[in-house]
Amino acid sequence: MSLARAMLIESQRQAISVILTYRYRLLPTKRQYRALEAILESQRQLYNAALEERIDAYRKAHVTRTYFDQSKALTEWRHEDPEASALPVALQRATLKRLDEAYKGFFRRVKSSGKPGFPRFRGKGWFDSFGFRELSGISMHAGKLRFKGMPRALRIHVHRPMPADAVLKSCVFRRDVKGWTVGLAAEIPTPSLRRGERVVGVDLGITTFAALSDGAVIPSLKAARLAERHLRTAQRALARKKRGSRGRGKARIAVRRCHAATVRRRANHLHQASARLVRDYDVIAIEALQVRGLARSSLAKDVHDASWAKFISFLRYKAAKAGTRLIEVDPRNTSQDCSDCGARVPKELGDRQHQCPHCGLSVDRDLNAARNILNRAGVGPGLRNVAGCGMRASGNLSESTRSRQETSE
Ligand SMILES: [Zn+2]
Repeated sequence: MSLARAMLIESQRQAISVILTYRYRLLPTKRQYRALEAILESQRQLYNAALEERIDAYRKAHVTRTYFDQSKALTEWRHEDPEASALPVALQRATLKRLDEAYKGFFRRVKSSGKPGFPRFRGKGWFDSFGFRELSGISMHAGKLRFKGMPRALRIHVHRPMPADAVLKSCVFRRDVKGWTVGLAAEIPTPSLRRGERVVGVDLGITTFAALSDGAVIPSLKAARLAERHLRTAQRALARKKRGSRGRGKARIAVRRCHAATVRRRANHLHQASARLVRDYDVIAIEALQVRGLARSSLAKDVHDASWAKFISFLRYKAAKAGTRLIEVDPRNTSQDCSDCGARVPKELGDRQHQCPHCGLSVDRDLNAARNILNRAGVGPGLRNVAGCGMRASGNLSESTRSRQETSE
């Protein structure tokens, strides 16, 4: 295949847009705050009513009420009841869709694993968001949102602007410990891939967060661990408080705040690390996590899997946005194989050094793994075949950029 042909296929396969979510804090007036709370409560009730209807229909007549049925019933209800039509239909449909997805998730889990977890009725405090799946019935102008049921325009604190070419797709209003936020999902065109030669392999680890094939490391986040310790202290304090006491309420708020802080610090660290990689390199090779999950299992895995998965999802959308090529490779035996001669050198988990008896290479275990990951991407030094690496990368990229990603607050 000619180089031109290979590049053509690559450009066709590359995703042309990525959907990112921009989360902003809302600045509601007192009246708007009350309206937000009232809408949330009405959507909680709608969710519970729709769930009850589904359960009843199945118990009494063994029929399955679908999203389509319920959204038709919603239209009729809106005709009869002026209170029902006080909110945009798209907002109410989004709530029904959410229940529908809870059902679909339930059936998927029934098929795959033992703990299906049937959709639950949501009590107060267990329902904290509502939104619009499609942008109808809501408008945004000059950092202000308007929709039926919300008195006047709702101000947003735009702490960083959205790209000018972003097309809004959907939005979700969420209540948290500090008040209300809105997550705006926008479609953003991605640039074409950078044609640079700064390549790197990344090995995700436990003691250090990641080792890079050029010898650099991304340290693990100490601050997050400290925050976790605070969280545990707060949780213990909560456990000691008497049920229904005033102190218990306070302790519960403290736990929530600690938890939010932990999540935020962790995410910040992952954001900074992934942003730096995307800035400093044109091609990034990383292990494909779903394969790794099968290949290795250890106690620490569960703890780290979540932040690794988050890190890779951050890398995916940041790479797509910047035109950096991200290649996900099979991680099996990356720590066992020699990155110089390819011979398998078995190691125990505690062996921190890779010492090859065949070619004499002696390097840090994680560095050896990072170099193997880079080798597998087919873009390492000595193999600068641009067309070849494009062919390998393109499939991964288009797949990864289609997914919906959440950006930092
Ligand atoms: Zn060797």
